[in-house]
Amino acid sequence: MIAVAMRSLAYVVLFASTVAAGADAVRVIETRSVPAEQLPVARSASHDLKLSLYAFKGSRWLPADIITAVVDALPLLTQCGVAIASADLRILDVPRRFHFFSTPVSRELLREFTVQKPALLFVDDTYSAPAYDAEAIGLSNAHERPELTNTIWFAYGARDLPLAIAHELVHVLSDNGDHSDAPDNLMRPGTAATQTRLTDAQCNRLRIVAEANGLITRRAGVAGRK
Ligand SMILES: [Zn+2]
Repeated sequence: MIAVAMRSLAYVVLFASTVAAGADAVRVIETRSVPAEQLPVARSASHDLKLSLYAFKGSRWLPADIITAVVDALPLLTQCGVAIASADLRILDVPRRFHFFSTPVSRELLREFTVQKPALLFVDDTYSAPAYDAEAIGLSNAHERPELTNTIWFAYGARDLPLAIAHELVHVLSDNGDHSDAPDNLMRPGTAATQTRLTDAQCNRLRIVAEANGLITRRAGVAGRK
């Protein structure tokens, strides 16, 4: 009974906030691009990835800290033959309730404002229970929340941020929630500095699925891989 009551309350809140959203404008007040010389060199890469990052004006996240962590995360992805073509951080001016991740409110934000996918969003906190440091939503786990497809939400203070960024991106690019128990693998359930590797099988799946889902593009002249 408690569960039923809570569910109807959630619908009421969702309805109220949806109605309120109409008058709110989401504005991009600043765009910072990671300088090309800070992107990892990946001459033998078969694919390119454009990363879109979003943070909020007045948030606890500092743009410079986000950029630093993303730059540190990128070499972990190039090991799969995926080069980073660009990484752009946009600062959004939004009503304060959007600074916090929750499925209904964050869906509302992404109905108001179209993000480029895959999108990494840096929020002040999460209302999810359990409250993960980061939450990755691919395609296969987005049926009930289609607006959130191919987005990753990082709560302020997320541990091992560069590793977390790379780990969650692998989940989204591969559209797969699997973890590894290999000692040095990036996809172990918890992050650690010694866990950075991806297997050939993980990289193959990442490239095939991400290309099929339009999240990476194959470089001209590169043949398809099995
Ligand atoms: Zn994971």
